[in-house]
Amino acid sequence: MYTVAQLIGGVWGAGGSGGEVVVHDPADGTPVSSAPVATADEVGKAVGAAREATAEWAATAPAARAAALHRAADAVAAVTDELTAAVTAEMGKPLADARGGVEAGISTLRQYAELAPLRGGRTLHGGSDALDFLTPQPRGVVAAITPWNDPVAVACGLLGAALVTGNVVLFKPSERTPATGWLLARALDQALPAGVLSLLTGGAEVGAALAGQDVDVVAHVGSTAAGRAIAAATARTGAKVLLENGGSDPLVVDADVDAGWAAEQAALGAFANAGQICVAVERIYVHREVAEDFVAALVRRAGALRAGPGRDPGTELGPLVDRRHRDHVHGQVAAAVAAGARLRVGGELPDGPGAFYPATVVTDCRHDMPLVREETFGPVAPVVVVDSFDEGLRCAADSPYGLAATVLTGSMSHAQRAWRELPVGTVKINAVFGGAPGGAAHPRRASGQGFGYGPELLDEFAATKAVHIEAPGGGHW
Ligand code: NAD
Repeated sequence: MYTVAQLIGGVWGAGGSGGEVVVHDPADGTPVSSAPVATADEVGKAVGAAREATAEWAATAPAARAAALHRAADAVAAVTDELTAAVTAEMGKPLADARGGVEAGISTLRQYAELAPLRGGRTLHGGSDALDFLTPQPRGVVAAITPWNDPVAVACGLLGAALVTGNVVLFKPSERTPATGWLLARALDQALPAGVLSLLTGGAEVGAALAGQDVDVVAHVGSTAAGRAIAAATARTGAKVLLENGGSDPLVVDADVDAGWAAEQAALGAFANAGQICVAVERIYVHREVAEDFVAALVRRAGALRAGPGRDPGTELGPLVDRRHRDHVHGQVAAAVAAGARLRVGGELPDGPGAFYPATVVTDCRHDMPLVREETFGPVAPVVVVDSFDEGLRCAADSPYGLAATVLTGSMSHAQRAWRELPVGTVKINAVFGGAPGGAAHPRRASGQGFGYGPELLDEFAATKAVHIEAPGGGHW
């Protein structure tokens, strides 16, 4: 059992008078970790202490900050096994995936350590005796509020970019993965000056207290509902807000693709991490000409997935994060079935401990069902049959979200139409996951705002200043 401690003003073990959260292993319900809950007063004190640490860290040379982040990445790498085990114990991800997320986080820290010192401003063509330039400066205090579904990779992106650009950071990990957040913060803190990183634990109320404080940036990765509450809070304080929120990513399957291959892509997109990925395939529009073969292959693939606890080697489908989330997933499936959709495999709550949910394929879905329109975040593939590529593209575009989309097609003109017309941040043609290193996109509508990834995230955490210098009295220096 992990006993988590907070880090406030450079002091481990500070605060926590707001009570305790206990996390249970979603594979068997046993307690895994206990974390203190910060009170609103403690959050205020942590922000005040962070503010005091800003000047020195901002004045530290960019190369020295980058060196510190490299050392922090080394410290995280040294606890890879511990972090991997904590992720699997707290949220259920199969061990190999959990390790992949930790390694991705370490790489992101190193990338930001390399990139940050290289990103300068511009010089301008002013008068011949004047000096005109643009220069990025740290924004000050950053609140980073993160989710549980890939807890190390996501947090390392926000923390690495915010710290290396000279900001002081208050980190509030998800209440579903507090020990993972604590292990990560402990490792990072070893390489940073005291007070530059703080850790606050607890639930939505702690995030809300933090988002309402006098900070300079609130960066939130999580649900759309929480993102909107945070945006409302920052509208009152004037803090900048960065939101990477929910999605309902479509997969469009064109008439000319191999149905078996398309089903493999759909299964990977819908069932990886038990569907708990922001860019998971959440709804499928398949052309009538390939629909029957596609569904048959998808049902076979779903039925063949090896389900079990994430800690067992060979597990492909771990449990959902907890029973509360399982109720949400099953509620959407049951409502679709009650409204006329047909269960082809899965869709039943298993007996036994934990929060397991089977890989599920639902056909005869309609575009207006909540299972199709809303984010499910579970191992569920809802299938809508369409009569043309046009119809598939139209349905894919018609969503409150705008995170990402995938199109499977052999037609270059359909591929071109897809990337031009789909109102989402990321378009993938013929691969549900993947993309070149350094990719960064603007999510649209309910999926958020601002760059949450890539080199551009460094710019989000910097404020650009324009400087004009000339000699007094119009003379020369
Ligand atoms: P969540 O928004 O419920 O929680 C995320 C964090 O926000 C937690 O630390 C939580 O305590 C905090 N929080 C919750 N309500 C808050 C409030 N009112 N004010 C301030 N903070 C609050 O999300 P989750 O369930 O942890 O994560 C799953 C969601 O995250 C899904 O919607 C998924 O799509 C999204 N997600 C998006 C991306 C992306 O890059 N777009 C990446 C990963 C996850």
